[in-house]
Amino acid sequence: MKLQLASDTEPEPARQPDPLVVSLLQENERLQTELNEQRRNVELFRSVFDCLPDGLAIADQNRTIQISNPGLSELFGYSKEELVGAQTALLYESKEEFEIQGRARFNLTAEEQLAPYQVKYRKKDGGVFSGETIGTPLRNSGGRVIGYLGAIRDVTEREQVHRKTAANESLLNLIAHSLPELVNYVSADHTLRFVNSTAEKWYDRKREDLIGTRFEDVLGPTASQIVLPCINKALTGQKVKKRAEIKYPDGVTRAVEISYVPDMDEMGAIRGFVALVVDVSNQRKIERELIASETRLTDAVSAIPDGFAYFDHEDALQLFNEQYRAIYPKSAHLIVQGTTFDELIRDGVERGQYQEAIGNEEAWIKHRIEAHRNPGDPLEQRLDDRRWLRIEERKTRDGGTVGIRVDITDAKRREHELERLSVTDALTGLSNRRSFLDRIAQEHERVGRYGGVMSVLLIDVDHFKRINDTYGHVTGDVVLKELAGVLADELRDPDVVCRYGGEEFAAFLPETSMGGAFSTAERVREAVHSRQFCAGNPKIQVSVSIGVTQSDQRDKRYENALVRADRALYQAKEAGRNQVIVAPPEAGE
Ligand code: GH3
Ligand code: MG
Ligand code: MG
Repeated sequence: MKLQLASDTEPEPARQPDPLVVSLLQENERLQTELNEQRRNVELFRSVFDCLPDGLAIADQNRTIQISNPGLSELFGYSKEELVGAQTALLYESKEEFEIQGRARFNLTAEEQLAPYQVKYRKKDGGVFSGETIGTPLRNSGGRVIGYLGAIRDVTEREQVHRKTAANESLLNLIAHSLPELVNYVSADHTLRFVNSTAEKWYDRKREDLIGTRFEDVLGPTASQIVLPCINKALTGQKVKKRAEIKYPDGVTRAVEISYVPDMDEMGAIRGFVALVVDVSNQRKIERELIASETRLTDAVSAIPDGFAYFDHEDALQLFNEQYRAIYPKSAHLIVQGTTFDELIRDGVERGQYQEAIGNEEAWIKHRIEAHRNPGDPLEQRLDDRRWLRIEERKTRDGGTVGIRVDITDAKRREHELERLSVTDALTGLSNRRSFLDRIAQEHERVGRYGGVMSVLLIDVDHFKRINDTYGHVTGDVVLKELAGVLADELRDPDVVCRYGGEEFAAFLPETSMGGAFSTAERVREAVHSRQFCAGNPKIQVSVSIGVTQSDQRDKRYENALVRADRALYQAKEAGRNQVIVAPPEAGE
């Protein structure tokens, strides 16, 4: 920019300019240009000064702020007016900090310092922060200190991040060192860069010794041979997992599970890998023990002579022996692991395997499943092929059910035989007296309740003593047996006949009144009398006397009828034997 002088605007009379004036004018013009130049520089400096994000302050030798930029106002919360003219002490966290830093940096002999240092500052609102500061003396062209420049940057956040990173790092270290697993970091050149305490133990070397050593040199040739393929794979960027048995430098052979996780930089280049090695020797031992105990269990189950089945808490079949399958041949295809109890029962019922379920399927299934879910006393189960099982079920602690099935067909047969014998007369095969009395009591109760009628017969062999005496006791027995056959033949199905004692028989005829009973008694008497006993060799003729009576509601006790029949029998004997006498019913007491 050219300075316009007043003399230029007003035309002068043409005359030779004074050389002094010319030189002054030239000097003036040069100075003007220089001044403008300096002004521009100052303006440029101010605008740079103002737009720098750091807080900047220029203070004089008394440390009074002369110039500040908006960055400083923003950082501390003071306006430019508050700052300019104030002592820089305003900005320090404490008087001491102001003194210390002042002595070190802002004195006349201070060197120019461009390396940043940390200062504790205080904002207008009282907040303290850590400022990265560059403080340096400003000198004039003669080298004299004319003031100080301070540039301040708030690095609180950066410091926090740094502290956090450091904390994370030490936490990671703590974790890695307290892990029972071995943790390493191996760089791409196979060198150990990090080892945890477990690694020190297994490698039997101190950390200082291990860091920087090649992995293979630590492990030794045999172990290296095992892990080398894993290292190579990890260094191609793939995760590696492998189970191996490795003898470590501490002399212990361990079953281990190795995991290598590659570490890559942002560009995807492999920097190394993290190695995590878990000792699974114990786990292996437990696995082996588990297998052994399972084998023992299976062996024990197959050695049980009875059918064994275990259903889990969801009622699915989990364990059984061959005997169990053999017991239910119709369900054999379903006796496999996983079949539920419901499925087995329903299928068995459909195939008619359970005798008691036939014709009553749904109710039987419901009852059987209920008993299985809440096991109590042993059950007896009859199968369609006449076999009998005893089933004992128990709940297990895990909510499952074990069941044992014993084939009790033989025992059941014996039991039925004993039952039969207990109600049967051994010589004749007829009911015995006890069973007869039970049954007549039941019939008497029925008659009493529904107002029916029955008749009672007492039959005694005439002069049986003579038969014994003449032909012997054995022949007498044969006669009694054959006589029982005649009685059984002559009486109808619902009639019940028994050997009442020695050579005396009794019968009751349900729903039969006196008339009918008399006819039956006569038929019996006639059949006996007309028959040849002992196949006619020797020729034995037998006759019987029979006392008959009718029993109805009038008899309060069935014994009354027996007494009347006995009386009638006595009368028949008295009247000459081989005859039937009827005693009419009477009102009992
Ligand atoms: P009655 O009845 O006509 O008056 O003459 P009885 O000879 O049949 O007389 P009683 O009833 O007193 O005798 C029954 C005989 O039956 C006595 C006994 O020796 C015989 N007796 C009883 N039980 C058996 C038996 O199981 N086997 C044999 N062989 N004889 C028996
Ligand atoms: Mg007798
Ligand atoms: Mg007799």
